[in-house]
Amino acid sequence: MQRLALFDLDNTLVDRSEAFRRWAVEFCADRELPDDALAWLIATDQDGAVPRDWFFGEVTERFGLAASVDEAWRQYRHRMPELVRCPQEVRASLRLLRDEGWTVAIVTNGQADNQLGKIRRTGLDQCVDAWAVSGDLGIRKPAREIFEAATRECGLDLRGGGWAIGDSPVLDVEGGRAAGLATLWDAPMVRQPREGLAIGTHPARPHRHGRRGRCPSAARRGLRPVAVQPSVQPRPPADADAI
Ligand SMILES: [Mg+2]
Repeated sequence: MQRLALFDLDNTLVDRSEAFRRWAVEFCADRELPDDALAWLIATDQDGAVPRDWFFGEVTERFGLAASVDEAWRQYRHRMPELVRCPQEVRASLRLLRDEGWTVAIVTNGQADNQLGKIRRTGLDQCVDAWAVSGDLGIRKPAREIFEAATRECGLDLRGGGWAIGDSPVLDVEGGRAAGLATLWDAPMVRQPREGLAIGTHPARPHRHGRRGRCPSAARRGLRPVAVQPSVQPRPPADADAI
């Protein structure tokens, strides 16, 4: 098997959950939202597993935002890359893999501006050989074609095999297996950043869910609080395909 490692991005190489929590805290503070708003945002986000247009449709309706769904979503995509973190240990581990002869790429679902922004702002662009972003390609995990595209960008052939590593049992593990890859279900950046990445081991753990916390007291720039609806958790459309 060729030494090819295809990593997921969100909650695998970067802590997307924490970045989202920080975005949600800012969102609540800017609008002086009530204390349960933060928990609602985090629960409704479902760790990024719901479509963003649906999510921001729910958000604009619940909080009565003046901004359109598209504008709220655009602002989110602008801010998220500024909030996301990738520990130095993760970048060092990727460099170590490449030093040891591995070819390394990122395969991620999401809008191109958001995902590329995360890759570049965290310095991951300097630590991998290539990346494939669904919003750029029009192909999403778990489709084999997105793994093929990343492999091709590396100058390799997917038929030579390799590894797919990520935190999603469906997108990364089932998708990787269907593409003929060995798979590792894990989110090493989140749990054990000081130990680096561990290809070849398989300490599979359940997928993490959103964190909860209190909405900070409203404070900023004289923004007025808005009335919100009773706390009802919306459900995404049945055929939801997250971006
Ligand atoms: Mg992920």
